[in-house]
Amino acid sequence: MLQAFVSEGIKPFIDGVVTFGAGHFYISQSDKGGLVFGGDIDGYNSYAQRGNLPVIEDVCEGGMALMPRIGRVRLLRHWGGIMDMSMDGSPIIDHTPVQGLYLNAGWCYGGFKATPASGLCFAHLLARDEPHPVATAYRLDRFARGAVIDEKGMGAQPNLH
Ligand SMILES: Cc1cc2nc3c(=O)[nH]c(=O)nc-3n(C[C@H](O)[C@H](O)[C@H](O)COP(=O)(O)OP(=O)(O)OC[C@H]3O[C@@H](n4cnc5c(N)ncnc54)[C@H](O)[C@@H]3O)c2cc1C
Repeated sequence: MLQAFVSEGIKPFIDGVVTFGAGHFYISQSDKGGLVFGGDIDGYNSYAQRGNLPVIEDVCEGGMALMPRIGRVRLLRHWGGIMDMSMDGSPIIDHTPVQGLYLNAGWCYGGFKATPASGLCFAHLLARDEPHPVATAYRLDRFARGAVIDEKGMGAQPNLH
């Protein structure tokens, strides 16, 4: 479960996306002035599809550590959704043991922004039945082979990405 947050509209002060890796917090500002931000997923598996207060506190702590000036901005709304976390934080773009069944999943935090590249690689796989050069590591059997991807260099464990 991941939660996203939107504040009341304020004058422009962020013109890109700011991410805070020492904690976990990311923030941008919408055209209407609202601050759009988020942080960590729940510390446990859940299909609840709703927010919870401990994560709100944790995300806001991250925001205050990075940018104390946002502390008095009022929150307008937040929502939660299920995230399809893979065990190593990277996606799976591959065929499956069932002939004709292909998989494009496990996108974790990044499934929206990855859509163009994900679609290109998936189309390549469907058309040629071989992985796109960019996606050769995203095989389903990497978990069985012990070839998990450690993109952050922090250890390929679900609680670290
Ligand atoms: C609050 C929140 C904020 C996010 N913000 C961002 C962001 O800013 N940028 C970004 O890049 N990504 C973001 N993401 C992540 C992004 O939403 C996911 O990575 C992306 O949606 C994954 O796409 P998908 O199609 O692989 O899976 P999903 O979008 O999860 O789609 C899976 C679909 O399968 C359906 N399904 C499940 N089980 C079955 C079944 N048995 N039979 C039939 N259908 C089934 C589900 O109903 C669902 O429609 C965010 C996620 C959340 C929750």
